[in-house]
Amino acid sequence: MKKNYVTQAINLKNYPLNDNDSIVVMFSKTKGLLHAIAKGAKRPKSKLGARIQMFVANDIMLNEGKNLDTIAQAQSLNTFSKIRSDLDKMSYSMYIGELVNSFCSNADSQSENFEEIYNLIFNTYEKIASSKDKKEVILNALKFQINIMNILGWGLDFEYCSMCQKKIEQDAIYTTSHGMLCENCAKEKYDYTNIKLNTKIKMFLSELTKFENTKYDELVNEVVVQKCFLFMKKYIDTLTNKKTKIFEVLKKVTVSA
Ligand SMILES: [Zn+2]
Repeated sequence: MKKNYVTQAINLKNYPLNDNDSIVVMFSKTKGLLHAIAKGAKRPKSKLGARIQMFVANDIMLNEGKNLDTIAQAQSLNTFSKIRSDLDKMSYSMYIGELVNSFCSNADSQSENFEEIYNLIFNTYEKIASSKDKKEVILNALKFQINIMNILGWGLDFEYCSMCQKKIEQDAIYTTSHGMLCENCAKEKYDYTNIKLNTKIKMFLSELTKFENTKYDELVNEVVVQKCFLFMKKYIDTLTNKKTKIFEVLKKVTVSA
């Protein structure tokens, strides 16, 4: 007998399966990352079509399938329509979707994290939808990057040097091999890929790891926020590459075993 289950899920992306049906990639509150079939969603009169759009959060019922589950019912909780009407809001929200899709595979995010991650995506989309300018959009995306890394256990410590353990008094230097370093330790571990974070940027990022809203939120300008966002993006990309390499190694090991 087929089993049904209900959950809340937020759509990250969708793509066609055939002429009538689509596949939706979503992040759910109880099962984490899900790929599900939306039957008939591509037909013009389908009610499901609007509900499987990117960024929409739904109350959904799914039928368990052999390979993929099928959406039986969907009721939207929030369509985040303001995201879709603004190019910046859309780009940064898509980035968040991609980040979750590439980083939160169920193999490495724990089920106790699912609800926290779901809430973080939902709240971030809500904040991006109501952001008044581009700076606020990027700031919300930056806060998402920092929070999701913390939840998944990859959070960066911007305050203490990972080698000498001392408080970083001035500029901090990020190294892919040793994490965050003080200037003295970084001299020993020089690498052309090192990224220097000046004192102000380091302090701002450090505040963001501790508080939802910081005293700098209003003071910083778009250039600084963008710079921090790009730094976090680079850090996350490096981790993703490392993870991909680990998977490749694992595959080779399994094949040869
Ligand atoms: Zn040090």
